[in-house]
Amino acid sequence: MAESTFAARSYRDDGVVLRTHRLGEADRIIVLLTKHHGQVRAVARGVRRTGSRFGARLEPFMVADLQLVRGRSLEVVGQAVARGTYGSEIAADYARYTAAAAMAETAERLTANDGEASLPHYQLLVGALAALSRGAHAPELILDSYLLRALSTAGWAPSFTDCARCGEPGPHAAFSAALGGIVCHGCRPPGSPAPAPETVHLLAALLSGDWSVADTSEPIHRREASGLVAAYVQWHLERAVRSLRLVERDDPTSLPTRQESSLT
Ligand SMILES: [Zn+2]
Repeated sequence: MAESTFAARSYRDDGVVLRTHRLGEADRIIVLLTKHHGQVRAVARGVRRTGSRFGARLEPFMVADLQLVRGRSLEVVGQAVARGTYGSEIAADYARYTAAAAMAETAERLTANDGEASLPHYQLLVGALAALSRGAHAPELILDSYLLRALSTAGWAPSFTDCARCGEPGPHAAFSAALGGIVCHGCRPPGSPAPAPETVHLLAALLSGDWSVADTSEPIHRREASGLVAAYVQWHLERAVRSLRLVERDDPTSLPTRQESSLT
């Protein structure tokens, strides 16, 4: 009887760990983005004890095949088998770590009320973490590409060619986060920034995944693009993504105080 009840309440899914925090002496709450069940909060019991059966499989940015048991308010992690061990390569590098933290935080916000429509976002995030961990491209480019595509997945696709407001064919010179990207002369709100044409070209490449253009872009245009992406993300998430501020810090000696929750 107990066995069948357990079976009815348990399910398997792949999930990526977005964030963890302590629960009591030995347990941890794991915030996951799953492939098929949206965002899930689950308790991992005994995970902070040495010799835990979960090992290091439930650290931020890890991808695991999970057995989850439905509980009253939180799920409980029954089993976790590592699928992608991206965590260690990411945590060892400051630029990768801050990019991954900003991606995980954005994913948590964007999928908080998403129900089960998580597959595109899951694939996008796992792809970006994999690219970060193997150093496929500069971390800030992977982050900005992820952010633009994540917002597109959430229904806020920017336009970097035709006017985002009236649709007049581009190219146009002005950028407005509030109006959805590049805007024509007639639509541009007063005070809108006018980024370099190369920056607009880079933004379009990051959105479409044209890495040959992105990888050969100049640092000055990357910085300008990052500022516009951050403005766009912040506008749409309505409050600043805390981790984006860490990314903007260049000095590797001023390591951020990582949330205690991520290290315990
Ligand atoms: Zn217009």
